[in-house]
Amino acid sequence: MPGKTPRNPLHGITLEKMLEALVKRHGWAELGRLTTVKCFLFEPSMASSLAFLRRTGWARRKVEELYLRELPSMAERTVTAELIITGVARTILEAMGVKEGLDDGAAAADGRVLKLLPAGGVKKMLVYAPDAIGRRIMGLRPELFDGIRAAGFTGVDVRSVFPSKTPVCYASMFSGLPPAGHGIKAYEKPRLECKTIFDALPAAGRKCAIAAVKDSSVDLIFRGRQADYFSEKYDGEVTARALELIEAGGHDFILAYHQEYDDLLHDIGPWKEKAVEAVGRHTEAFLKLAAAFDKKWAGVPRAVVFAPDHGAHVDPATGKGVHGDDSPADMDVTHFWRFSA
Ligand SMILES: [Zn+2]
Repeated sequence: MPGKTPRNPLHGITLEKMLEALVKRHGWAELGRLTTVKCFLFEPSMASSLAFLRRTGWARRKVEELYLRELPSMAERTVTAELIITGVARTILEAMGVKEGLDDGAAAADGRVLKLLPAGGVKKMLVYAPDAIGRRIMGLRPELFDGIRAAGFTGVDVRSVFPSKTPVCYASMFSGLPPAGHGIKAYEKPRLECKTIFDALPAAGRKCAIAAVKDSSVDLIFRGRQADYFSEKYDGEVTARALELIEAGGHDFILAYHQEYDDLLHDIGPWKEKAVEAVGRHTEAFLKLAAAFDKKWAGVPRAVVFAPDHGAHVDPATGKGVHGDDSPADMDVTHFWRFSA
């Protein structure tokens, strides 16, 4: 019979494809741990790893077994992994009726979010950016996000960019460009030279404000635009400033950045109760800002967004939290959007 389906589920899948998919999913370090293949742990490359696997039967079998085990969830992942945080920039602009002003390579808007948009778009937007709240902590402690869901927000799953470090991620989120496009490829905080929403919105006559912890990535990389910048001592002061800005009503777009959870996860570990309490403080602050925004702009078409940059995982060497891999723990985040007409 022609076109007979082969029995072997690995039929037609090259070792290279398999390894690529696994590395994309877990990162080299995690893959090394999962398969106990040591060559993934030390300066790994595709070429050297493939050569090793081709001549080392047991290691190849470990990789194939892992791939087969994860195949069902990988298919699912391909569907949900299409949209990455680069889509946020154009989504914000389209929601606010701004058609241009980003660089050509900027990713398209997220259709899942635009579907929620009221006809005619929105006039005002508040974006809350909490550092390092990945989908994993949302799964581990869902009750911390009940308030957000109860307040009518819709969760949208997105993938972060690699390396999953704050300046890399927020540069991508607000420029629409991958790291190679905007130029920040590591934990460094230069002023961005590419176009961002903080260029596009002012060019279209929309007034922007950024309130962030002093010397944080968000405080520094978007400087030099026609936006109002507020560098604050820490999260509490950022909240106070954002509330003041909302009340004053002088801006069309406000970005507020908090970092306590990220600080704590690096100090003590991402799933430790003391760190998780900071996640609760972030969601609480967010809901407080959202409520103030609603009160100020009742009757005006508006959007409120909860947009973390990346997640985190436990470093087995230290037991503390880290991020920067391309593993799901670091890369998978959920954003919450709410539009009100
Ligand atoms: Zn961090």
